[in-house]
Amino acid sequence: MNLRARLLLSYIVVIMATLVIISIALILFLNVRPAPPQQTYRDLTTFAQVSLRNLVTNARSGPLRRQLQGDEVFQYITELATDSGVRALLLNMPEQTVLYDSTGTYQPGDSLTWTAAPEVEVPELPGFLQNLIRNRLDPVYGTFLDPDTEEWLFIGLDLNTQTDEERLLIFAESAPTQTLRAALGQLGSSLARPVFQAAAIGLLVAALMAYVISRTIAHPLQEIAAATRQVNPEDRSKVPVTGPPEVRAVAEAINDMRDEVLATQTAQQDFIVNVSHDLKTPLTSIQGYSQAIMDGAANDPVKAATIIHEEAARLNRMVTELTDLTRLQNGQLSMQKVPLQLSQIVEVVAQRLSIVAKDITLTADTPPMPEIIGDGDRMAQVVTNLISNAIKHTPQGGTIRIRTQVNNGGVELIVQDNGIGIPAAELPRIFERFYQVDKTRGPRRGTGLGLAITQEIVQAHGGSISVTSAGKNQGSTFTVWLPSPQLKTASSAR
Ligand code: ADP
Repeated sequence: MNLRARLLLSYIVVIMATLVIISIALILFLNVRPAPPQQTYRDLTTFAQVSLRNLVTNARSGPLRRQLQGDEVFQYITELATDSGVRALLLNMPEQTVLYDSTGTYQPGDSLTWTAAPEVEVPELPGFLQNLIRNRLDPVYGTFLDPDTEEWLFIGLDLNTQTDEERLLIFAESAPTQTLRAALGQLGSSLARPVFQAAAIGLLVAALMAYVISRTIAHPLQEIAAATRQVNPEDRSKVPVTGPPEVRAVAEAINDMRDEVLATQTAQQDFIVNVSHDLKTPLTSIQGYSQAIMDGAANDPVKAATIIHEEAARLNRMVTELTDLTRLQNGQLSMQKVPLQLSQIVEVVAQRLSIVAKDITLTADTPPMPEIIGDGDRMAQVVTNLISNAIKHTPQGGTIRIRTQVNNGGVELIVQDNGIGIPAAELPRIFERFYQVDKTRGPRRGTGLGLAITQEIVQAHGGSISVTSAGKNQGSTFTVWLPSPQLKTASSAR
């Protein structure tokens, strides 16, 4: 489902939920709250006014006048009431006994008790009606119950019948029981239309909003998608960082990723160039010397064969080192991490290499150190690389000082020589793959991979490696730092 459809759907859900909630609230409201009886009293009053006015008009017009005297007037009113669905009763006052009931529920002679309604607000009866109402009495408002307990609201008018009898004319309507069903029956059909209209308008607005909002959200995303597709290593274009913060974050993340991909690509290309170049040199000399031997052109075939042997060995070393490095970088090289005594490893390696050092003085200051956790063979490789590098780059008669010490929650190995040193400009690059300060210097040509491997191993142990050199012929110092769990617990226990 695309963004626009999702938005539209969510709006529809929200609108529907709102309508349902409103409907439920309305139904509950109608169900709980009884309709005010005021409206019924008002209706009854109007009805009484109209029917009495008719009565008066008819009475004035002649023959009816006589009829209006005596009980016929009540019959007339009763007919009127029954026609309009209003119940009419006539009571004998003050006994409150029924003379007549249009519904026939009360038989003549039955007594009727009512409850007067508190404060009924109705329009005042017009003056001309006062003729018919004795002593200008206000109408009586109230409720009474039928024997079947149905409740009725009524208006009672005290009539002057020209006899001495006091009569109360009552118009009554059943009390509005505003139940849910009654309310829906009354309002349902009229309510349904506006509800549906509201729903329709809501849906229309939702569709419109979904369209507009999805445009503002989808547009920058579409732009990013388009820009991402266009990114290629040649033109170094970036994805434009625009739109809302979230979209900008996506664009920035893509740009970061792009930078990383480009960096990796560049590194890979450099790597291939370096490998080809470094493989080519020994291969060329192997080819040249073997050709010379074959042609019988070599003055000293044994020397030529020795060179071929050395170059082949170097190629072999290079391939091994490259494989190691790749495995280290991919985390594929399994390491058996156990507690190690760094000083012991350093002593063993220094002992072994002192034979190669010949006239170079090797001093080892290696007191017992707290344990580190690591792979013994890999650690020996690190120490070997550093010490043999120092031997390679230190002239005969020079000195190499090897030390171990505790520093900063870990153990340090320091290999310091007073050899040819490293120019300051070269220092930052010394750990790069294939990087060699000067390929022609040094007694034996290396591969430029040793320090890269050393750094990878140290980092895989959570440590770090650094180098300092005061400059040409000022010697170099390599420092390896490795964390020690013993020191860490000691410092955190403190
Ligand atoms: P290589 O196989 O060439 O020794 P390394 O990665 O071990 O490769 O070293 C990279 C370069 O760093 C070397 O070519 C060398 O010039 C320089 N280097 C390493 N150790 C020392 C040192 N102790 N003194 C001077 N230069 C050094």
